[in-house]
Amino acid sequence: MLELSTPVKFIKRIGERIGESLAARGVETVEDLLYHLPFRYEDRLNPQPMSELVAGTMASILGEVRGSVLLRTRSGTIFEMTLGQGLGTVKCIWFHGTYLKDRFKAGQMVAVYGKLEASRSALASGNLTRFKMIQPQFEILAEPGKAPDNEFAMLEMGRIVPVYESLGGTTPWGAKLTSRWMRRVIWSVLEELNKTGQFSEADSSTALRNDKQKPGAPQPALSSSKGLDSEMWETLPPALLARLNLPSRMAALRAVHFPEAGTPLAELVAAATPAHRRLIFEELFYLELGLELKRRRMRERAGTAFATGPAVREALKQVLPFHPTAAQKRVLGEIVADMRRPQPMRRLLQGDVGSGKTIVAMQAALVAIENGAQAALMAPTEILATQHYLSARKLLGKAISPRTGKPYRIALLTGSLDPATKRQTQGRVMRGEAELVIGTHALQEDKAQFSNLGLVIIDEQHRFGVGQRFKLMRKPGSEPHEGRPAGVVTDPDLLAMTATPIPRTLALTIYGDLDVSVIDEMPPGRTPIVTRRTTEERAQEVWEFVRKQVAQGRQAYLVYPIIEGANDDQPEFDFAHDAEEQAGESAGQQVSKTAGKRTKNSSKTEKLFERPKLRSATDMYEDLRTGALKGLRLGLLHGRLSADEKEVTMARFHRGDIDVLVSTTVIEVGVDVANASVMVIDHAERFGLAQMHQLRGRVGRGAAKSYCILMTGIPPGGKITEQADARLNAMVATQNGFELAELDLAQRGPGEFFGTRQTGLPEFRVANLLRDRAVLELAKAEAERFAARPDPAVTKQERDAVWERLKQQWQRRYGLMEA
Ligand code: ADP
Ligand code: MG
Repeated sequence: MLELSTPVKFIKRIGERIGESLAARGVETVEDLLYHLPFRYEDRLNPQPMSELVAGTMASILGEVRGSVLLRTRSGTIFEMTLGQGLGTVKCIWFHGTYLKDRFKAGQMVAVYGKLEASRSALASGNLTRFKMIQPQFEILAEPGKAPDNEFAMLEMGRIVPVYESLGGTTPWGAKLTSRWMRRVIWSVLEELNKTGQFSEADSSTALRNDKQKPGAPQPALSSSKGLDSEMWETLPPALLARLNLPSRMAALRAVHFPEAGTPLAELVAAATPAHRRLIFEELFYLELGLELKRRRMRERAGTAFATGPAVREALKQVLPFHPTAAQKRVLGEIVADMRRPQPMRRLLQGDVGSGKTIVAMQAALVAIENGAQAALMAPTEILATQHYLSARKLLGKAISPRTGKPYRIALLTGSLDPATKRQTQGRVMRGEAELVIGTHALQEDKAQFSNLGLVIIDEQHRFGVGQRFKLMRKPGSEPHEGRPAGVVTDPDLLAMTATPIPRTLALTIYGDLDVSVIDEMPPGRTPIVTRRTTEERAQEVWEFVRKQVAQGRQAYLVYPIIEGANDDQPEFDFAHDAEEQAGESAGQQVSKTAGKRTKNSSKTEKLFERPKLRSATDMYEDLRTGALKGLRLGLLHGRLSADEKEVTMARFHRGDIDVLVSTTVIEVGVDVANASVMVIDHAERFGLAQMHQLRGRVGRGAAKSYCILMTGIPPGGKITEQADARLNAMVATQNGFELAELDLAQRGPGEFFGTRQTGLPEFRVANLLRDRAVLELAKAEAERFAARPDPAVTKQERDAVWERLKQQWQRRYGLMEA
């Protein structure tokens, strides 16, 4: 008897050989097979009339074969089949189609699917063939004059028919595993499971329900199959399903594979039928339940309960260089409330570029420091770490700690410090002589131990990986150990900051165990940044504009996609290959993955042309210095310079000793020079939205009117991609980071957007975080509710079953659960 756990090789029509090739694609059990869902559907009950066809769209047409012909041309054979429906006809064309010559016979019923194109020859000849389809997919449904002759005919006709993505593999006689094959197998599996279900129901209830079914008779529609509703396969408490009005699991799977007549095709395609929703809900419910459990466990861990007496408040006040915005006050309140609790804080602070996260972080650091603990601030690049160090010194330099009566002690720890300085700094950190330690991922080196780490702040968190975050948190110095009185220091508090504004529920899912605070307000006095697109042909005008701004006392950034040379074989984003600047493994992977994808996508067209020639920071620095920007003071900044060189250049730019900083994306995050008013991004077509938004955020930080100029190169082929075009237009249209993130998310999908590895999120079987946001909200709310208090309508047994399932699922699929 078939069970969900039965290996696929035991399924009729599958066997050892196909079973192996399916297993290679991750389909090992009956359950896996059932979760191989159709990726589109064809409505063959109400087929689209030919009169409604529209050129340029994908269409699925049902018709009869009117005739076919094999044409020989100079470049090969072309097979043409004319499909008719009443007076209308569509010409189907296959190149090198000799193999089709005997497949079609006049009068056959055929379903085709493909892109419709207007047919010119048809117009000329005045007949009704207005469309053609090149290389359509097809299925022959019935022979002329004959009723469909096999038991599966009803799976292919007179209903909404599922179409599956191929899993590869062939039958023992060499035929491909087609959608038709898949339909039959899945249908049979559902039939078998129905019997299993009925059997088990009968077992427990005594009513035998399947005695009406005579062997050999045409199989009844599955909708009368009660066996599939058997509780043996249910994964969610029936009371929950009833309350949310969702179908049982197997009924949902059946309906997704073989939708009932009348199910709107649009809902099927959008995965929005109740059946789809049920499967998506289940997947997200268990994900959210796992995350909820993690959060709850985190809350059970011991942290430090920081005190915030008048002395601490006094300390905070004396460092504030300006009036905080209402939003800054609010999030600081949320952070401080967390820090006061005896559990470790896990908080994500979101705020658009320039919203003023740094000062909030500094204040949080002071709370820890005034409680006698150390605070660590980790930044993804050396430039940013150094800048934070300098501004922390400026901010806190003259302040006196009410607790110690002495100035604050701040240390900088980065990878490129000379070994002696590094050792010395590490010593100070270990002995507790530095209270605020600012650095890069060097902070995580094993030698970098803290004596009493109370707060970890991670700036630009999206550039790090989740794993790193935890590595820093699990420093030996911050673990409870015997020498330390119980309850004094255990897990440090964590504040992660990011300018990537994403919907809250999504953030809570991606960042799993973090609570979220949002700064949704900009500091006063900002003027909108004027954003314009232009092309490299008009570079001269851009340089003139830069000159004018500099003449008015302003400064400018020019950003290039590569460091040196003109070829694309360098990393597109230099931090990816730049050891010291590299924001850790994950960010590196994320970037190279993106770059890899892009090359792959465009390689088809680009192979025809020469390699793209790109302008680079180093070359343009030389060019402009002696050419278009001669007379201005130019500086060059990129990841391959030594830390000292970088620091000197940044300091000179800060002081205003450099007018124009020619740079790579090393300045993408955090760099803060209020007098800079122009950001020119060259080869803007090559930059991602998040990156451009971050780069633009480098200007508009002072009161002066600021400009962002997106200059596009002319790629081989002459045109930038549609996606690049959309990105640039979006940049011009809005400065709202939230809106841009939405588009970015839509273009790249959550996996790339966040870097799948970084998130540690599973690949979903049904759900799509972007598409299914509404269900995600629901799943989160229900998971919280389920974890919080027992629902009287759910039995103890059902609850236990859910927890058991969660355990198995997380161990098997997500591997996130710690033993
Ligand atoms: P981000 O959130 O991008 O890290 P920053 O913390 O770097 O932003 O702040 C951007 C700029 O705005 C800095 O120059 C900072 O000094 C300034 N700033 C922050 N908060 C305020 C405020 N409340 N009033 C005036 N200026 C502020
Ligand atoms: Mg910042």
